[in-house]
Amino acid sequence: TPTASDLKALVRAVPDFPATGILFRDVTTLMSDGAGLAGAIDALAALAADLSVDAVAGIEARGFIFGAALAQRLGTGFIPLRKAGKLPVPAMAEDYALEYGEARLELDPTIIRAGQSVLLLDDLLATGGTALAAARLLRRAGAHCTHALFVIDLPDLGGMTALSEQGIEGRAVMA
Ligand code: IMP
Repeated sequence: TPTASDLKALVRAVPDFPATGILFRDVTTLMSDGAGLAGAIDALAALAADLSVDAVAGIEARGFIFGAALAQRLGTGFIPLRKAGKLPVPAMAEDYALEYGEARLELDPTIIRAGQSVLLLDDLLATGGTALAAARLLRRAGAHCTHALFVIDLPDLGGMTALSEQGIEGRAVMA
């Protein structure tokens, strides 16, 4: 069983992506490793063990990979939170600010059952802007969203605090 530091060693750090001075954490090297992927899903499942979860919602695209595996492990369904323009049905949208520019997440609200507890999942938490937009969407669609899981937290960027200010407890496999 890989330790947290074994999992961390599988994340590739790429300097100067997407812009000069930014150290990008690339989880491709973690998910392409069999023990790494299994270890990450085990660790996410452990972080969810005390939660009552009706569904897992993952953010496109890397949140789909970890999120679908976690949902299957927890025995719940999976809710995709999509990038703009992908859904074939009318969607709810939330815009949010990125470091450079704007982005939009979309959700088909008809897949949410009123009052169900939805666990939010993404690969990485930085400022929290993406996860907060995701939580707004889920709540507008009628879900309870009180917890969010991440494979990686970048604690210097304040995402955990931003989430807790909106009533969401964030938990991460590694920082
Ligand atoms: P935030 O909205 O500032 O918290 O940024 C988090 C979002 O940007 C997540 O959807 C991540 O997938 C993506 N992201 C930001 N920085 C990185 C990184 O270093 N590696 C991988 N994804 C990142």
